[in-house]
Amino acid sequence: MPRGPCPECDAEVQVDEDTDKGDIVECHECGAVLEVVGLDPIELDLAMEDEEEDWTES
Ligand SMILES: [Zn+2]
Repeated sequence: MPRGPCPECDAEVQVDEDTDKGDIVECHECGAVLEVVGLDPIELDLAMEDEEEDWTES
């Protein structure tokens, strides 16, 4: 099982073997929602939570 470091708490987070970039995993340690941004090695980044922020300034 591949694993990568949680950017939030540094725990080793396991991901599915057939995981793909853009997949979302949850850190079992801190509960952070993480996005898979790299596969070899596994790289994880904090994913945006569900709240939609409006980045555009009108
Ligand atoms: Zn974590």
